[in-house]
Amino acid sequence: MISDVLLPINVAGHWRLGGGDIYESLYPATGEPIARLRAASLDDVEEAIQGAARAFRTSGWAQRLPHERAAVLHRVAQLIRDNAEALAQKQRLDNGKPIKETRSLVASAAATFQFFAAACETLEESITPSRGAFVTMSVHEPMGVVAAITPWNSPIASEAQKMAPALAAGNALVVKPAEVTPLMALELARICEEAGVPRGLISVLPGKGSVIGDAITKHPLVKRVSFTGGTTTGRHIAHIAADKMMPVSLELGGKSPTMVLEDADLDHAVAGVLYGIFSSSGESCIAGSRLFVARSLYDEFLTRLAEGAHALRVGDPASESTQMGPLITARHREGIERYVALGVSEGGRIRSGGMRPRGTALDKGYFYTPTIIEGLTNSARTTQEEIFGPVLVAMPFDSEEQLIEQANDSVYALAAGVWSRDFKRAWRLGRAVQAGTVWINTYKQFSVSTPFGGWRDSGLGREKGREGILQYMEQKSMYWGT
Ligand code: NAD
Repeated sequence: MISDVLLPINVAGHWRLGGGDIYESLYPATGEPIARLRAASLDDVEEAIQGAARAFRTSGWAQRLPHERAAVLHRVAQLIRDNAEALAQKQRLDNGKPIKETRSLVASAAATFQFFAAACETLEESITPSRGAFVTMSVHEPMGVVAAITPWNSPIASEAQKMAPALAAGNALVVKPAEVTPLMALELARICEEAGVPRGLISVLPGKGSVIGDAITKHPLVKRVSFTGGTTTGRHIAHIAADKMMPVSLELGGKSPTMVLEDADLDHAVAGVLYGIFSSSGESCIAGSRLFVARSLYDEFLTRLAEGAHALRVGDPASESTQMGPLITARHREGIERYVALGVSEGGRIRSGGMRPRGTALDKGYFYTPTIIEGLTNSARTTQEEIFGPVLVAMPFDSEEQLIEQANDSVYALAAGVWSRDFKRAWRLGRAVQAGTVWINTYKQFSVSTPFGGWRDSGLGREKGREGILQYMEQKSMYWGT
């Protein structure tokens, strides 16, 4: 247990108990409670948003010179690094990912604050040369109060990805973390305060999405919502945004194809495909969950892949050698089990996994074995719907034309992977596949300076990169008479 006492939340800069229900955060590896807090109420939402609007008007944050805001954000990055191990351990308890993974999420949160500190200092505005009668200049202004709504699968990284650019752009913000993982947003808010972000500029409002998230999204003072989560919720938010004429960014679900060509480096491809689907227990929007393998290679590749999946170390997230931890909740695991049963009823064969692992240390937690299903077509529901767990559907392909057609045959278009030694072919496929991110001979690598986002049902807008900060700003064109 991190704490026996109810944890405070942050409402308009005041650390106090929320006015909502009591929430218990459970450690997915054991099912034991690790923290309890009282969630936000609708009154807290109102107070937080009014407070954020006030802080935006009066704190002078937006008026600070970019290098002054940047200095504060650099301090945030440094404080994250100074507290990295404690944060990683807390994040492990909050969502059960292996400690090695949570350490890299913490490192990426620090890098994100550092990147947006620099982005804020180097944001260039453009001046068009005089055309005789006037000179024009394009400038960007902060929006006011913006909201970040985040999922549970990599909390500190997704929260940093929204908080850093929103603050760098000069805004105030309210953060609504996922019900089951409220701790990291609260930690980041504390760190921001310690680094010098004015009190009241950030509120963190844990609570039920359909109540608290909904109220935040609908609030007239909220000028932008940056949402990461499921496509159904994203669509609901997009409807509200359309009514309010409010810009949104939506980072949504995926069912990403991984393509292994005849000439792939097999050792490399087997390791990459395993990592692409089974790291983070497959609870990753970009999980490479549809696998296409050249038919001539298929049997050998699947044999090696199944051996690799079987050998993955599933277990205690605190152990340095664990490769796959538990799933987030008992309910989520039941959903995954229903999908595996559906796969079998659709004609699939379980090549590896497909069950809960046995062992006393694993019985209490929400563990599941890395699962590979064969024998399904690309149109099966199991192949098409996002499972958000450690389940890979493997299929052979016969021609490049068929491969591209099937890879693109999905409502999602978030990411894709290509494994081939033939540069020209890999390039051609990488260009032909429809996805926001394509990895060639690698998978799940990230750079904060590279934009990230999805096409189609995988989302709207881009996080990270230069687009990442501009999302939180309005553009203005100014004309001077000469
Ligand atoms: P979810 O949509 O259920 O919840 C996400 C967040 O939205 C939570 O904070 C939740 O409380 C809130 N929410 C729920 N209903 C709401 C409403 N009516 N109004 C406002 N907010 C509401 O998603 P989840 O189960 O937490 O996360 C899993 C999903 O997230 C998967 O589909 C996954 O692919 C997606 N995801 C996408 C990315 C990406 O970058 N594209 C990254 C991580 C996760």
